[in-house]
Amino acid sequence: MQVPLLDLKAQYAALRDEITPAIQQVVESQYFILGPEVKALEAEVAEYSQAQFGIGVSSGTDALLVSLMAAGVGPGDEVITTPYTFFATGGCISRVGATPVFVDIQPDSFNINPDLIEAAITERTRAIIPVHLYGQVADMDPIVELAARHNLTVIEDAAQAIGAEYRGRRAGSMGHLGCFSFFPSKNLGGFGDGGMVVARDPDLAAQVARLRNHGAQPKYYHQYIGGNFRLDAIQAAVLRVKLKHLDLWSAGRQANAATYRQMFAGAGLAETIGLPAELPERRHIYNQFVIRAPRRDELLAHLKQQGIGCEIYYPVPLHLQECFAHLGYRPGDLPESERAAQETLALPIYPELTDEMQQAVVAAIAEFYA
Ligand SMILES: *Cc1c(COP(=O)(O)O)cnc(C)c1O
Repeated sequence: MQVPLLDLKAQYAALRDEITPAIQQVVESQYFILGPEVKALEAEVAEYSQAQFGIGVSSGTDALLVSLMAAGVGPGDEVITTPYTFFATGGCISRVGATPVFVDIQPDSFNINPDLIEAAITERTRAIIPVHLYGQVADMDPIVELAARHNLTVIEDAAQAIGAEYRGRRAGSMGHLGCFSFFPSKNLGGFGDGGMVVARDPDLAAQVARLRNHGAQPKYYHQYIGGNFRLDAIQAAVLRVKLKHLDLWSAGRQANAATYRQMFAGAGLAETIGLPAELPERRHIYNQFVIRAPRRDELLAHLKQQGIGCEIYYPVPLHLQECFAHLGYRPGDLPESERAAQETLALPIYPELTDEMQQAVVAAIAEFYA
């Protein structure tokens, strides 16, 4: 049996009759950039995320970039983040001219370890970017408390975590700014690139909105230098249709995660592989279901050969990336991140996955360790 890592065609087949007229309506209006569809999506995502304001942007990467710009982060500044994340988190810090400072992760959640942050704060530190990896929120209370004490801006990288919760609060609503990605493989994915910044503070939200459009306000008058980080109306129309289904999809992912736990236990594998921890007081939305696997690279090859989709997120932690060599990190500096990079493997978890497909995944893993 072939089991892809993600099957967007299955999702589209179920939504075709809703999405086609929504796109058609934008095409008829010939209003393609920002406009009423984007405004409506901004309000809906802000409400969904328990935030005051939403600003639609061109990608999750640009959400991070424009957030750092709006927070006034620049050359000479340091920004604390996790090395165990998608490249954009660290890349954006360098792109505004600041220096990323990487702090190791907690082995259970794969998220930044708040106990290690304070030692990394210097007089140059301006911001912290916690990442809610795989759809589970980082330990935000100590991070927000530390940031308040040191007067730092908190920018949540919630690209993988729309709708995830921590102590009843939604991803993106706890920091000063929250960043979402609508890349097609995210839980809320568009028909192309897209993203959103959410904010509580009206001034910060206004600054993000200005910078998204070259810093102009009013049009053709520039007090600030921004960029073109605008969201397209067609993407907004698609995303508005999909947002209505998001909770059902997240529930489907959670159900699939529970099914995996039962199946791995039933196959006697619960001790062999490390199953992802669901921490207390969290709503984990499982953008990825990531196990720790002995002989991971051999298992990956075995599963691929059996037609099972799987992927390593992420094989090289950011502090060991070639482009950050000038920062002077060495192997062994951030051991939990390095261990995760060597042990983890993401398995299919998308909501349309069937029990038979999950059985095939577990059987193929059982065969490997037999
Ligand atoms: C996907 C992702 C991004 C970037 O989002 P794009 O929309 O692809 O630019 C940033 N951070 C994390 C953690 C991501 O998973």
